[in-house]
Amino acid sequence: MLGLMQDWPLRVSTIIDHAARNYGDREIVTRSVEGPIVRTTYKEVHLRARKVAQALSKLGIKEGDVVATMAWNTARHMEAWYGIMGLGAICHTLNPRLFAEQLDYIINHAEDKVIFVDLTFVPVLEAIKDKLPLVKAYVIFTDRAHMPETSLPNALCYEEIVEAENGDFKWVQGDENAACGLCYTSGTTGNPKGVLYSHRSNVLHSLAANTGDALGMRSIDVMLPVVPMFHANAWGITFAAPAVGAKLVMPGAKMDGESICELLETEKVTVTAAVPTVWLMLLQFVEKHGKQLPYLNRVVIGGSAAPRSMVEIFENKYGVEVFHAWGMTEMSPMGTLGSLKYGMENLTDEERINVKCRQGRAIYSVEMKITDDDGKELPWDGKAFGHLMVRGPAVAKAYLKGEGGQILDEDGWFDTGDVANIDADGYMQITDRAKDVIKSGGEWISSIEIENMAVGHPKVAEAAVIGIAHPKWDERPLLIIVPNEGETVTKEEMLKYLEGKIAKWWMPDDVVTIDEIPHTATGKIQKLALRQRFQSYKLPTADAAE
Ligand code: ADP
Repeated sequence: MLGLMQDWPLRVSTIIDHAARNYGDREIVTRSVEGPIVRTTYKEVHLRARKVAQALSKLGIKEGDVVATMAWNTARHMEAWYGIMGLGAICHTLNPRLFAEQLDYIINHAEDKVIFVDLTFVPVLEAIKDKLPLVKAYVIFTDRAHMPETSLPNALCYEEIVEAENGDFKWVQGDENAACGLCYTSGTTGNPKGVLYSHRSNVLHSLAANTGDALGMRSIDVMLPVVPMFHANAWGITFAAPAVGAKLVMPGAKMDGESICELLETEKVTVTAAVPTVWLMLLQFVEKHGKQLPYLNRVVIGGSAAPRSMVEIFENKYGVEVFHAWGMTEMSPMGTLGSLKYGMENLTDEERINVKCRQGRAIYSVEMKITDDDGKELPWDGKAFGHLMVRGPAVAKAYLKGEGGQILDEDGWFDTGDVANIDADGYMQITDRAKDVIKSGGEWISSIEIENMAVGHPKVAEAAVIGIAHPKWDERPLLIIVPNEGETVTKEEMLKYLEGKIAKWWMPDDVVTIDEIPHTATGKIQKLALRQRFQSYKLPTADAAE
């Protein structure tokens, strides 16, 4: 027997409708790409999103077409998102940090018909425009006064095409399972693959993200998503914030410590989210200038592991609660979040930080388990570590156009490619990417854990650990560090620092200093490039073993 409740498709347009109706005057503040701070409201975004939908219809865009954006976090970008999705089209967020060859591959593979682009990225598209036969128009996110000279064919001015409309548009009322968003994984091996979100998966993900033990945003919150909308939907924040009427502060093109710190202060931001490298810059700025973070009460750190020293500084020095989050593009993207659980009220400082350094507990709608190489499930004892598998209604079941083939096992589990342990309280800890784990004498060494300890050294800016071939042990860890400006760090100093912090047999066999650690388009350490660079590196311990 079916329930007798209303059939109300979970479409993302219902989120912006709700925000406009109930929190119409709540602000969205943007540091515009042109420079000044600009203010708008949910009501205004709602109206202009409908105008975007009208303008796109005039350009011939229909339900199911793909429309791309290459843009920073701004209110205009949000209007375009809701306009594209409300029209029933699919919003494809392009990551401008990808290589040109990857970008034209992605744009053609997705069959993007129109691209909305920020002034900053016009040259990026100009460089590849001749390889994009399917793109009918480029809409530049600016007004007439700032329109650049451009060689892009059919370049339109955003403000002009939006303001030419009256907003009298009804959202397309389609199936909740219809596609509405598209984001490609950065593809460290092979071509990037498209993750195709549905209206339903995005709505469910925002509800789950807003539960109290997850982001738990409320209308009194002021949220600054530093994480870009082109990186896994800004972790879902541009859906989750309007769903509860939280004020949004959009950093535009400026994500340096000073610019972020200024917005945190002037807009009285209460909660913010970004990858560790951004927080590193912020904390350096805050410390150097003796700033405080008086309004901020929560910071979400994810995308890569948050170093312990960072968690400690936020929590202990600035009184800001850290939520360590883990997820991936394929998961919409949030999987776990590290808020404290009942019964943890009286933890000591050290115990609390230990919990906060783990990647957190599964949010509602995410199921997870860890398995060994034979697929056997491992216990949640905080020790056993294995392949992290997930499933849920906001987890991908395939990539666009079947790339990568079958990605789920017969029980519907998706292999995240991460290696993790889970403790008895359900807190998961990533110990490595499966391909980065160091296999020493049949046992696994976590490169991430050594890296996190190494960056705690006051003279170290960044650290990476890779496995180097070893005649006796198969692989042994090599620690690669980038010292802070003007500092030098010796191998002895580094190893002494690590003593007692990691297991003895995890001690790196060597330490080298380099100028810069290469990063992927989403800010992760490019282990592949490091492994290639140190391909023929000989560890000092290798000779003795031979
Ligand atoms: P890509 O960077 O490849 O496009 P994602 O941004 O989706 O992909 O990254 C997902 C991966 O990032 C995860 O599988 C995991 O390896 C890593 N990751 C995300 N959050 C964390 C975290 N808090 N700690 C450690 N690793 C993380």
